[in-house]
Amino acid sequence: MALIVQKYGGTSVANTERIRHVAARVAGYRQRGDQLVVVVSAMSGVTDSLIKLAKEIMPLPNEREMDMLLATGEQTTIALTAMAMHALGVPAISLTGAQAGITTDGVHTKAKIMNITPKAVHELLDGGSVVIVAGFQGQTPQGQITTLGRGGSDLTAIALAAALKADLCQIYTDVDGVYTADPRLAPDARKLAEISYDEMLELASLGAKVMQSRSVEFAKKFGVVFEVRSSLNDNPGTIVKEETKSMEGVVIRGVTLDRNQAKITLIGVPDRPGMAARVFKALADGAINVDMIVQNISHGTQPPATDLSFTVDKADLLKARKVIDGLRSEVGFRDVLADEKIGKLSIVGVGMRSQPGVAAKMFDTLAQNGINIEMISTSEIKISVVVELAKGEAALRAIHAEFLSK
Ligand code: ASP
Ligand code: MG
Repeated sequence: MALIVQKYGGTSVANTERIRHVAARVAGYRQRGDQLVVVVSAMSGVTDSLIKLAKEIMPLPNEREMDMLLATGEQTTIALTAMAMHALGVPAISLTGAQAGITTDGVHTKAKIMNITPKAVHELLDGGSVVIVAGFQGQTPQGQITTLGRGGSDLTAIALAAALKADLCQIYTDVDGVYTADPRLAPDARKLAEISYDEMLELASLGAKVMQSRSVEFAKKFGVVFEVRSSLNDNPGTIVKEETKSMEGVVIRGVTLDRNQAKITLIGVPDRPGMAARVFKALADGAINVDMIVQNISHGTQPPATDLSFTVDKADLLKARKVIDGLRSEVGFRDVLADEKIGKLSIVGVGMRSQPGVAAKMFDTLAQNGINIEMISTSEIKISVVVELAKGEAALRAIHAEFLSK
C-alpha cells in the first residue's frame, strides 16, 4: 500500500466531465489499495475571472479580500471532486487548506507555507477516505485565509507530499511531461523520462512553463521526487528528482526559446567606475528585473566610452526606457537603442559541467545556419544567446537537431 499525492491542474478539472475523469482515475488507484490525497486547482479560467470581477470594483483591491475571493475557486473544485468520488461509491472528503493543516505567513496573495500539520489528513486516510485538498490556499496562525501566489496548487501538492512523507507525488497537467523542446517549435522533440531539479528550474525560468518554479525549489529542498504527467491519457510522464551520476551522461537536456525579452543598449557610456552601478541601481529601484548584461571594451575614444546592453522583460520595456532616459544627464551616455525583436535561446544540461566544447558546438551550429549571436551568457548548466527574433525558431530547430535528435 502506497500513500500517493496527486495534483490536478485547472485544465484537468475544467468541467464536470473532466472532474468525473479525475475521480475515475483516483478510484482506480484506490482499488489497488493505495491511500490518496488529491490536490486540485480552480477550474481553468476561474481564478482569472475572479480577479477580473475584483478589478471591476476597484483597480487595487484589498489583498485580504482578494485571498477571500480567490480561495473560493479551489473550494468549488474540491466539493465537486468529492461528489464525483461519491458518485462512484468511493468514500471521499474535501478539505480547505486550513482544514488540511496548512499554516502560512500573513503575506496575502503570495503567502509562504510555514508548516503543515497533517494529523487530520492522516486520520481521514486511515479511516478509508480519499482526501481532496484545495490547492493554492492556507491559513495564518490567526485564522486568516491566504493564497500562495499564482500556480500555487503545485506548491500545495509538493509540500503535502513532503509533510505526509508520501511514497509518490504526481502532478497531472495537460501535457505528457517535460520535453527536450516545445513540440510546437521542434516537431521531433522528445519527452524526457527524467530530469534533475536544477535542470527543471532552469527550463522553467527560461519559459518552459510546465510548473511553478517555487514548487520545484521546494521539492529540491525537501527531496520530494515527483512525476509530471497528463490527466488526458495513461502515458508515463517525466520524473523530477535529484541529479544522479547517469544524468551527466546526457550533455544537453533541453533547449528553449524565450520571446518575452527586449534588449536595451546604451551607446557611449563614460568608461569610469560607478556608471554600471548607477544604471542598474536605478533599474532595480524601479523593480525592473535585468537578465543578460553585456559591456564591450572601450572604443579608444576620448574620453573613453563603452556600450552597455542588457535585456529586460518585454512588459517592462517602457518603464525601463523611462528610467534610462531619466539617467541621461547624470550618466552622460550618448544614445539609447531598444530592440524588441530578439529571442533568447538557451540550452540546459547538468552534463555540460563535465563536458568541454558545448558552447563551441552551439555557436558553430548557429554560424552554419547563418544566425548571428548578439549576446551570450552562461551558468554552470546553461548557455543562453540572444538572436534576431525572426531567426529564433530556426535556431532552436538547428540546435535541437544537433544536440537532441535521436
Ligand atoms: N488557481 C490558482 C491559479 O490559477 C492556483 C493554481 O492553479 O495552481 O493561479
Ligand atoms: Mg493552474
